[in-house]
Amino acid sequence: MFDVLLLNADYRPVRVLDWQRAVCMLLDNKVIRVADYNGRHIRSANLTLPWPAVITLRRYAKQLGRLRFNRTQLLARDGHTCQYCGYAPCNAKGEPARTNLTMDHVVPRALSVGGRVTLPWNGRKVPVSSWENLTTACRSCNQRKGARLPEQARMALRTLPRRPSNYEGVQLMFSLRSVPEEWKDFIPVAA
Ligand SMILES: [Zn+2]
Repeated sequence: MFDVLLLNADYRPVRVLDWQRAVCMLLDNKVIRVADYNGRHIRSANLTLPWPAVITLRRYAKQLGRLRFNRTQLLARDGHTCQYCGYAPCNAKGEPARTNLTMDHVVPRALSVGGRVTLPWNGRKVPVSSWENLTTACRSCNQRKGARLPEQARMALRTLPRRPSNYEGVQLMFSLRSVPEEWKDFIPVAA
């Protein structure tokens, strides 16, 4: 159906919600309607309201600005490209595909202490499964590297893994889906 774009109180996009969740937030008076899907309505036994397209929080929510880690966004961060050999699979339409792409722990799990690893390039300690220690690798590179550091396996990383900025996070969120016309004024465009 029609999803709803949630903006923080500063009008930056934070999340895409299904309409049920959005209606709950509206009824709880936590959000303000900013744009509707023209001519569409949500109807139930005791309620009819314009179908919201964009809503904004009344109060700024700090933690919503942080991008949560997941595989889909990791692959998007890395351009659906193996960060060791450059393999970039495409589907029949020529779009990036996930075929044979895996998540590789750059510093292997076997070297973690208390769930954290030390990154060789900057000495920082980070959770073993985090933006900073995971990269996109094709199946064969992942197997070849095994439970070794890239140097030990003589495999160079094309880019060092890092947490996307909030701005990049928003871009990633929208690079993976079609964007309704009603949202376009609220989505930052690359400079
Ligand atoms: Zn590869």
